[in-house]
Amino acid sequence: MEKILIVDDSVLQATQLKNILQEEYEITVAHTAAEGLHQASNGNYSLILLDVVMPEMDGFTLLKKLQEEIITQSVPVILITSLSDVENEQRGLVLGAVDYITKPFHSLIVKARVNTHIKLYNYRRQVEQQSMTDQLTGIANRRKYEQYCAAKWQEAARLQLPFSICMFDIDRFKVYNDTFGHPAGDKVIAAVAKTAASLLQRSTDFLARYGGEEFVALIFGDPSEKIFAHLKKIRQAVEDLHIPHDPSVSEWVTVSVGGVTVVPQVGSDYDFYLKVADTMLYDAKKHGRNQVVWADERMKQLWEKGASL
Ligand code: GH3
Ligand code: MG
Ligand code: MG
Repeated sequence: MEKILIVDDSVLQATQLKNILQEEYEITVAHTAAEGLHQASNGNYSLILLDVVMPEMDGFTLLKKLQEEIITQSVPVILITSLSDVENEQRGLVLGAVDYITKPFHSLIVKARVNTHIKLYNYRRQVEQQSMTDQLTGIANRRKYEQYCAAKWQEAARLQLPFSICMFDIDRFKVYNDTFGHPAGDKVIAAVAKTAASLLQRSTDFLARYGGEEFVALIFGDPSEKIFAHLKKIRQAVEDLHIPHDPSVSEWVTVSVGGVTVVPQVGSDYDFYLKVADTMLYDAKKHGRNQVVWADERMKQLWEKGASL
């Protein structure tokens, strides 16, 4: 059941609205704007019904605050106004409310407006979701990655957490396509993504298709030795899929992996570390492929198969 938040200081009015909607939706009621803000930031609401006139913080102030927070800014807000309140209605719509409902309530109108806005909200979310997903693999696409990395990099700096940037690239993939054809190549890209995703399951792990046969992973919280060990596992898991490669190149399809772990400082440059990860990947390729090369917190290189080749 989808969730609706009602923010209204009047117990009577909130109860009326709740009675109209509770058959179809899960309703939460907040009787002050502060409580409403708290609920909205913690719950997963599809719609907020907001009374304009409340003591202490009024509906407009709350509406502004909701729009400033990333979690709540896309949730549609319907204002509750009284019939004579044209001025408030205008002000609310200008501030970003999607609609208004006037008192006294007509249950059919309330239901119809609520249903419409929840439908629109879900449609918008679905479109947004699709525009952030790579069609071939089902993982995040480059666009989602661009959005995600900047926010997470700042968060890691603020929390002083180790942050790892990791690039994967399928080895000798041009040859694979030339030998087995592009559709078969597509299947390999999907299989590699699935394998990597299955080993990056924490809520803070992030994997995206960076482009072509390249992937990028962002991992929070663990020091370099742990991440290095984990990436070796992922690299091995891809090899263990035992997807035959062109025999002139190698027995199985493999990936090379390069990455870096760093505790970012406020103002450190993400792109610099992305380049470091890319350089590690380049070293992995240069030294025989199918291996992980990492830069630790002190920028010391960790080699899976040795740099002596
Ligand atoms: P290396 O080991 O150095 O990475 O060699 P490589 O052949 O994998 O690298 P290169 O960058 O020369 O070639 C990448 C190939 O990946 C070229 C392209 O045909 C293929 N490729 C890129 N995107 C796709 C895709 O979406 N589907 C398929 N099937 N192939 C793709
Ligand atoms: Mg490549
Ligand atoms: Mg490649």
